[in-house]
Formats: sequence, C-alpha cells, structure tokens
Amino acid sequence: MPDQALLDRLRAAVTANFAAETGFLAELVRFPSTRGNEAPLQDWLARQFAARGYEVDRFSLADVPLAQHPKASPMVEVDPARSVQVVATRRCPNPAGRSLILQGHIDVVPEGPAEMWTHPPYAAVIRDGWMYGRGAHDMKSGVAAMVYALDALASAGLAPAADIHLQTVTEEESTGNGALATLLRGYRAEAALIPEPTGGTITRAHTGTLWFRIRVAGVPVHVAVAQTGSNAILSAFHLIQALQDHTRQINEAARQDPWYKDIDSPLKFNPGIIRGGDWASSTPAWCEVDCRIGLLPGTEVADAQAAVERAVAAAARGNAFLANNPPSVTWHGFLADGYVLEPGSEAEAVLARAHAQVFGAAMPARITTAVNDTRFYGRYFGIPGLCYGPRGEGAHAFDERTELAHLQQTTLAIAAFIADWCGVRPLA
Ligand SMILES: [Zn+2]
Repeated sequence: MPDQALLDRLRAAVTANFAAETGFLAELVRFPSTRGNEAPLQDWLARQFAARGYEVDRFSLADVPLAQHPKASPMVEVDPARSVQVVATRRCPNPAGRSLILQGHIDVVPEGPAEMWTHPPYAAVIRDGWMYGRGAHDMKSGVAAMVYALDALASAGLAPAADIHLQTVTEEESTGNGALATLLRGYRAEAALIPEPTGGTITRAHTGTLWFRIRVAGVPVHVAVAQTGSNAILSAFHLIQALQDHTRQINEAARQDPWYKDIDSPLKFNPGIIRGGDWASSTPAWCEVDCRIGLLPGTEVADAQAAVERAVAAAARGNAFLANNPPSVTWHGFLADGYVLEPGSEAEAVLARAHAQVFGAAMPARITTAVNDTRFYGRYFGIPGLCYGPRGEGAHAFDERTELAHLQQTTLAIAAFIADWCGVRPLA
C-alpha cells in the first residue's frame, strides 16, 4: 500500500492536473465516436500518448488474426480495417513490480434523438460539477481517469516499476473484438484494469450478451384484401412475444445461479431495431428485428444461441404462415460469455486497499446485467480482469453525465493502485 507521504504526493498531482484532465475528457466527448467512426479519436489519442513519451502501436482489426479466434464475434456492418485500436506502452527496464494493462473503450452508442438532450450530446457541457455528453460516463470518464492516473505518477516524479500498456479500444458496445485484438496483437500483463464507470465498485460478475437478427417474410397485397396476404411486421411481433416468453423461462432458471439468484430477471431481452415494409397500404413483405439477449456466466454461448433458435422455430411452427415460411435467425454481433471475477485475487486486494485509502470505505462489489471487456482477460488469457471506475448516470440514455469530483477521486484511487501493484521508481 502506498504510504501516506506517497498518497499525498499523488493526490497533489491529481489535483494539480485535474483541470487538464477535465479538458481532456471534454475533448474525448467532442468526438462522435460511434461504431465505425472511432478512427479520428484514436488518431488524436495516439498523438496524445506519443507526446507523453509512450511507444504507440496503432493497428486495426484487420491487422490481427481475429477470424481464427473462437471468441471473436461476427462483424457484418463495419469494416475491420476501419476499426482502429491504440496501445501505448511504457516499458520498465529491470522491472521490480507487476505489469499492468489499463484499457478503456472509446466507442459510444448512438445519441438518439438530439432534442431529448438538455445539452447537445457532443458539447461536453459542464453544469454543477457534472459533465454531460454521450460517452462522458460510458466510458470516456474512465479513459481520462486511467491516462491521468499515470500522468499523476509522472507529475510526482515517479514511474511504474513494471511494464504498462495503456489501451484504447473499439467494439466494446457491439462485439468486444477490440479488446480481443489487443491480446491477439500480443499484449499481456499480470493484471488488467478496465475503468468502466462502476461508481467505485468492483464488478464481481457480468452477464454475457448475444446479438441476433430475425428476418421474416410476408405476402404483400393491397390492405383492402389483407386476409389474402401476410403481414411480416405482425409475424415479427409474434416472434418477439415468443422471445419474451423464452426470456421469462431463462430468468426462472437464473434463480438458481450462485451470483444472480438475488437479482430479479437478470437476463434482459431487447428488440432494439426494427425495419420492415414498404407502404402503409400494403401488407409488409419483409421485416427484420435486431435483438439482444443476456446469458449467465456459466452458460455456453452455443447453448444460449441454440435456445434462441429453438424458441423462434417453435413460435414459427405454431403460426399458419410462418410454419411454411420459416423466419431466419442470424448472428451479427456479440457472442459474448459472462465472467465472474472470483474473489480472492491479489490484484483485487491491491485495488481494494487503494480504494479504501482514497475513499475511506471498503470497495463494494456489484453484479451487473450488462457485459464488459474483462471476460477476454479473465476467462481466456488467465489475467485477472478488474472492472472498476468513476461514477455517473445515463449510460446509453439521454443526458448521460459524469460526476467530476468522483472522477478526480477515482483517478487518485487508480494512481494509488498502480503505485502499489507495479511499484514506483524515481522518473528517469
Ligand atoms: Zn462501457
């Protein structure tokens, strides 16, 4: 644990740099880095990291053998060559401490109707100690925290006594392929910290996520004789209801899960996008629905997929038209496992000490019903994946915002964690 004198030095550095950190976060928020549009921000970050003296590796998903990896998720709408990842490395000669990956995603979900926002979604407006904007909370705040935690060490005249990889990735909101790509590129460490905005809690467990697209056909006729045709939108509605029933069943089973038993309906199903039809007075000839459903950490992705396909097929068999015109189910994004950070890891203990030192209270654990990138580290590469970060509100909603005072504290907690996990030396 950093002694009080070291913590005081780090606190002074975080405080002195916090205006710059806030400005940095505002710059991040001003980039509308929705899926497929992350490269300008990644290029900006690459320059920021180079200016700080990191060795910078900028590469795309096309530069790694993603397709061969069993845990890569399909990408159908985005060109992998345009999905840019950045890894900034600071190597420590003769390391004395433990190496660390700090990783944040810089992709954001679409802002939705702009008129629903009190402040424009990419303006990074600050009011009453909160910064507003798409991504201000999920998770550009965490990216600012990890960058400025390392800056605080440097400002205090210190360097980590182990190798550091500072990584900004894409695709967290759709596949996880950005995080996987850094591992396939060869980056490893003895722990990985992902400062998702958890409000100062450690993520004990996250659910997995599947994305799928249902497509149904119809028979287009004039609505005057609608009974002679078939309405694809109503057929899709029938399938959505069947998937809601399926979700109730898997949530019933989740009552036995050791981690999720106390959470009501932890597995969420969401029809998120619907398209279909061509004319208000014609029965629609087609409809497709993009859906998301959760799975428990112990469930195999393939089993969860098969259960979705069975539910859709059974609903189709019970429908006169769909029985002869079966719908298709295609997998076009997340095929993500859940993950449990088993209690008792040394990395978590070190983070808990840093948190307690800064916040004066024990670090609570949370169980989340969404996915994050820690699974790649913890499940497939044997690297403890810690998900812990600042406090905010409105992820994927309008008026998303992060609390700046908490961000400052979190930055210090991460700096204290780095100092303890990696050890420190005087800056060369
Ligand atoms: Zn996130």
